[in-house]
Amino acid sequence: MQGSVTDCDVAVIGAGAAGLEAFRAAEAEGARCVLIEAGPLGATAQLRGGVPLSILQRAAHAAHALGELPEMGIIVDPALRLDCRGALKALRTARARVTNELLSPLYRIGGDRLLTGSATFIDDHHLSIGGGRVVAFRSAVIATGSTPYVPYALRGIHGLLTPDLLFDLEELPRSVAIFGSGAMGLQLGQALSSLGVGVVVHGDDRLWRLTDEEIIDTARERFGRDFPLLLSSELTGVEEGPGGLGIYCLEGDGRESYQRVDRVISASGRLPGTVGLGLEAAGVECAGQGFIAVDPATLATTCPHVFAAGDVLNRPMSLRRAKHDGALAGRNAARFPSPQPEAPLVELGMILTNPELAVVGLTLGEMRERGRHGQAFIVGGAAMGAERGVAGEGEIKIYVDAGSHRLMGAEMCGQGASHAAQFLALAMGGNLTVEALLAFPFYSPLPEAALREAAGSAARQLR
Ligand SMILES: Cc1cc2nc3c(=O)[nH]c(=O)nc-3n(C[C@H](O)[C@H](O)[C@H](O)COP(=O)(O)OP(=O)(O)OC[C@H]3O[C@@H](n4cnc5c(N)ncnc54)[C@H](O)[C@@H]3O)c2cc1C
Repeated sequence: MQGSVTDCDVAVIGAGAAGLEAFRAAEAEGARCVLIEAGPLGATAQLRGGVPLSILQRAAHAAHALGELPEMGIIVDPALRLDCRGALKALRTARARVTNELLSPLYRIGGDRLLTGSATFIDDHHLSIGGGRVVAFRSAVIATGSTPYVPYALRGIHGLLTPDLLFDLEELPRSVAIFGSGAMGLQLGQALSSLGVGVVVHGDDRLWRLTDEEIIDTARERFGRDFPLLLSSELTGVEEGPGGLGIYCLEGDGRESYQRVDRVISASGRLPGTVGLGLEAAGVECAGQGFIAVDPATLATTCPHVFAAGDVLNRPMSLRRAKHDGALAGRNAARFPSPQPEAPLVELGMILTNPELAVVGLTLGEMRERGRHGQAFIVGGAAMGAERGVAGEGEIKIYVDAGSHRLMGAEMCGQGASHAAQFLALAMGGNLTVEALLAFPFYSPLPEAALREAAGSAARQLR
C-alpha cells in the first residue's frame, strides 16, 4: 500500500455537522478516531446553509416589517428609502463571526487526528487521503454532506448562481429568476423580494414537500403575494444581452412567458456527496439518486461496519437531524460489532418563510398510499394563524389512523407552523392518539389552538 499509514478504530469522513458529532460520540465511547475533511474547514450550515440564509431572512423580515407599519396605524415618512444593496456584505461579516465560534472545537483536534484531503475507499478497511496517506480503520462513518444540483437545462447560463454562490456576491442583483420551488427557492425568493430584488420563482409541479392540495393552494396564494410563483414551468430558452438575461419559459397552463433578469439562481435541490468516495470498493450501496442506503435503526450501510449520517441520506435535510444521526452513527461505529438500534425519529421538515410551511410524519400522499393497502385514515383540518383581530390565513391538516386513532402525519402552512410541527413530532414519537392530543389543555391561542381544532375535527369523525 502506497503512502504512510494511520491506524484508527473509527474513521469519520467529513467534518460537517454530522461528522463532528460522529467524531465526538465515537471518542466518548473510547474509540481512537480520525476525522478527515476535504476542506475548506467550516461546514455547510455555517458557510452556505442555515446560518447565512437566516441572516439574510432576518434582514428581509426587518425590511418587510416596515411595509406593514401603516396597517397598524404607524406612519412611515415617505422620504424613507431603503437601500439593501449592502445586505450581503453585512451577512458575510455576521457569518464570519458565527463560523469562527463554531469552528473553534475543530481547531482543538490534534494534527494527527484531523487529516485534510479527499477520502476514497480502497477497500472496506482502508481509505486513501488525497491519493497519499492511507487510513486503516476498524469501522467508519460517511458524513460527506451534499452539493447543489444544477439541472441540465440551466447549465451554461451566463453568471448562473447557486444558493452557495449567492452569499458570496458583493451586492444584491436587481432582479433574479429562481429555478426551484423547494425549501431553498421559496426561502430565497421571499427574502430577496423583501430586500427589493425583483424575483420570479419557477418550479416544477411540486411545492416543496407538500402533497395536500388544499395546503398547496393556500401556500401558493400566500407566496404569490410576494413574488410570481410559476409552477410546472419549463425553461425553453435563454438570451444573453447587454441588459441582462432574457428567460423564456413554457408555463403549466400552456402559456409562454418571458422575463428579463440580471441573474438566474438554480435552487433545484442537492446531490449526495458520494462522488469519488469509491463506495463500491467498500461494498456500500446507494438507494435512489445516489443517497446512501442505511438501516434506519442503526445507520449501518450495506457494509455492516461502515455507517452514514447527515445529508448523504435521503431524508429532509436538517442541521439538528444531521447532528442527531451523526452521534448515533459515531456511537455505533465505536461499538461495532454490537451497534445499538434506536427507534427512528419522526420525520420533520419545515421552512421558516412567512407563512411557515411544515410537514411532520407522513404526508397526505403517503397516507393515500397506505390507504390503497387497506389502512383507512381520516383528515382533520383547521385554519391557522388567526391572531386576535386578524383573519386566519393559513391551514393545518392532520392525518389520523382510523383503526388505532394514532396521529400519523400533518401538513401545514401558516404563522407558527414550525412550533405546531415540533409539538406534533413529539406527540407522534410518543404514539399519541388524537383524543390524547385533544385532552391536552393548550394555553397559548396560537398556533396550538389550530392544532387543537384540527384534532377536534378528526376526533368528531372518529366517533
Ligand atoms: C442554503 C441551506 C440552508 C439550510 N437551512 C437550514 C435551516 O434553516 N435549518 C436546518 O435545520 N437545516 C438547514 N439546512 C440543512 C443543513 O445545513 C444540513 O442538513 C447540514 O448542514 C448537513 O450536515 P452534513 O454534516 O451532512 O454535511 P456538511 O456540513 O456539508 O459536511 C460535509 C463535509 O464533508 C466534506 N467532504 C465531502 N466529501 C468528502 C471526502 N470525499 N473526503 C473528505 N471530506 C469530504 C465536505 O467538505 C463537508 O465539509 C440548510 C442547508 C442549505 C444548503
